[in-house]
Amino acid sequence: MTLPSDAPRPTQDHEPVVYNVGLDPRSIDQDALRVLSRLQRNGHEAYLVGGCVRDLLLGRRPKDFDVATQAHPRQVKRLFRNGRIIGRRFRLVHVVYGRQIVETATFRTEPVIDDSEDLLITEDNQYGTAAEDARRRDFTVNGLFYDPTCGEVHDWVDGIADLEEGLLRTIGDPRVRFAEDPVRILRAVKFATRLGFRIEEKTWEAMSELAPDLSRSAPPRVAEEILRLMRSGTSLGAFRMLRACGALKALLPQVDDYLGTRDDPDPRAHDRADLFWRLLEALDADMHVGKEPSTGVLVAVLFLRVIENQLEQDSELSDLDRSRIASEVIQPLAARARLPRRAVEQAMRIIALQPRFLQPPTKHLRRILFLRSDDFPEALHLFRLRCAAWGQGWDVYEGWLERSRGAEGVSEDELSELRRKNRRKRRRGKRRGRRGNPAGPDEGPVDGAPLDDD
Ligand code: ATP
Ligand code: MG
Repeated sequence: MTLPSDAPRPTQDHEPVVYNVGLDPRSIDQDALRVLSRLQRNGHEAYLVGGCVRDLLLGRRPKDFDVATQAHPRQVKRLFRNGRIIGRRFRLVHVVYGRQIVETATFRTEPVIDDSEDLLITEDNQYGTAAEDARRRDFTVNGLFYDPTCGEVHDWVDGIADLEEGLLRTIGDPRVRFAEDPVRILRAVKFATRLGFRIEEKTWEAMSELAPDLSRSAPPRVAEEILRLMRSGTSLGAFRMLRACGALKALLPQVDDYLGTRDDPDPRAHDRADLFWRLLEALDADMHVGKEPSTGVLVAVLFLRVIENQLEQDSELSDLDRSRIASEVIQPLAARARLPRRAVEQAMRIIALQPRFLQPPTKHLRRILFLRSDDFPEALHLFRLRCAAWGQGWDVYEGWLERSRGAEGVSEDELSELRRKNRRKRRRGKRRGRRGNPAGPDEGPVDGAPLDDD
């Protein structure tokens, strides 16, 4: 697709600039095409909108295909037996084809903002025209509407020009748009890094100015975007950008502090920061080979260095101390970012388990129980990332991987028997301990002794 050089610029009135792009219909989801054509046959204006149009024009495969129409939710529902109205704050229709859903939304207008100074959007449910719906979207490249019936893109926001230039720019005044919804700052980082786009200067300035407002956004939305950035395969670039615009400081101040300042004269400060960046690099490498980490592993990656940094101040800590410190650091941080609680709890456990991978072999019983414990796969994934990041210990990781495969053969019955045995041993150990025998039956491993493979 090329932009005709004499193409008129979009105007502020309701006439879009129309580009005849004629995308290959095979690249478009057939169910979405079905929804569009039925809406149009029934006299309703309808388009493919948002990320799918952007991705199709860039030759990327869209994640999902969204439809926007002038028909109201009830009218849409009447046309589709498989349509369900969902949402309270904003009602839209899910047209369901087996496991696939085509989200069909009615054109919306920018919500009317009351006369207070505060621009933060809280209500978002007024219907509008296609032009208004395009303009209430976040970035110009996300505001394009495509009509597959005639192969035309309708551009009310100058999005095609930015798409051609690889430029990410808000629709309208960036300071107003980020103030309305600071999560758009995280979305800007996501799209810029994912698409390799440059952020337009005024948009970037407004991001830097308004990043502190992120603390006012709904925490679950923020947490979701952070986790998405971590899973993007470009988390290194994304987090560098978050830091540069001040969003990291607003969201995770302890992580930002840990990274120190760029002009710190102490080289150790830079090495320290480097360890965090290398973890993200390792995460991206894993995403590229299809090894997607669980949310618990992602949360652990976020906080691992902050916690280890505290633990490194004292080398005499027991496992229990490690868990306690991990919990003391991570709980308030995670609560502030409202990360999912189960993932946070798992992150604490798997961070505390890391030294186990470097300890010498424990008794068969204890090892099997570790290898088959619920947290083992995630703990091992975190260890894998650490080995990749630090550039050492990969052979140790592979040893554990092999042992875990070996332990898969242990049946559930055998495992229950081993657990019973372990409990009995512990009880006996406790009794002996009470009688003054300091050595438990299942004494812990000795730090620094060589590993063996049993
Ligand atoms: P992805 O490929 O990650 O799904 P997307 O562009 O489709 O990217 P979605 O979050 O699926 O993003 O949202 C769909 C569309 O809705 C966006 O393209 C944009 O037009 C609009 N949109 C989403 N979030 C916002 C927001 N916070 N403010 C304004 N418009 C938004
Ligand atoms: Mg999408």
